[in-house]
Amino acid sequence: MVSACLMGLPVRYDGGSKRCVHPVPERWQSEGRLRLLCPEMEGGLPTPRAPAEIDVGASGADVLMHRSHVVDHDGRDVSVAFVLGAERAVHVAREFDIRVAVLKEGSPSCGSSWIADGSFSGVRVERDGVTAAALRAVGVQVFSENQWDEAAACLAAIERATQSRSTLR
Ligand code: SF4
Repeated sequence: MVSACLMGLPVRYDGGSKRCVHPVPERWQSEGRLRLLCPEMEGGLPTPRAPAEIDVGASGADVLMHRSHVVDHDGRDVSVAFVLGAERAVHVAREFDIRVAVLKEGSPSCGSSWIADGSFSGVRVERDGVTAAALRAVGVQVFSENQWDEAAACLAAIERATQSRSTLR
């Protein structure tokens, strides 16, 4: 699974994309194994939309457990859309037996190492977003666009392990 904005789809809050040019996604795309998804649009939010951040001090997992919120720059609580989008990502992961995801770093949905701190001041904190947390909770290995090679190595290891299990049967 790959964040749709990383493959050039104009799904970001500002109506743009964050196209990432790298041999790994190009290879996966040519092999027909990419599943592109924008959790925020899957959750029903429009593009463009106001930027949103998870509450100060909270993480994506807190939002999933309804202990915290995602609020947009206009003060609207958009938690329901974020949780719906994360649930949709988990559904797709299960449907296609997805084991590895590469998601856009820093997003309140897709961030896997850091997100904004909730103050809309540009400060970063080491936490994951709502969809990254949901996918990790069901065993998907989540990487960012700064880790394509690590993601490819992880996928190759999973496939080798699967292959040897089926050979032993
Ligand atoms: Fe990209 Fe994820 Fe934001 Fe959608 S929710 S625009 S896929 S970072």
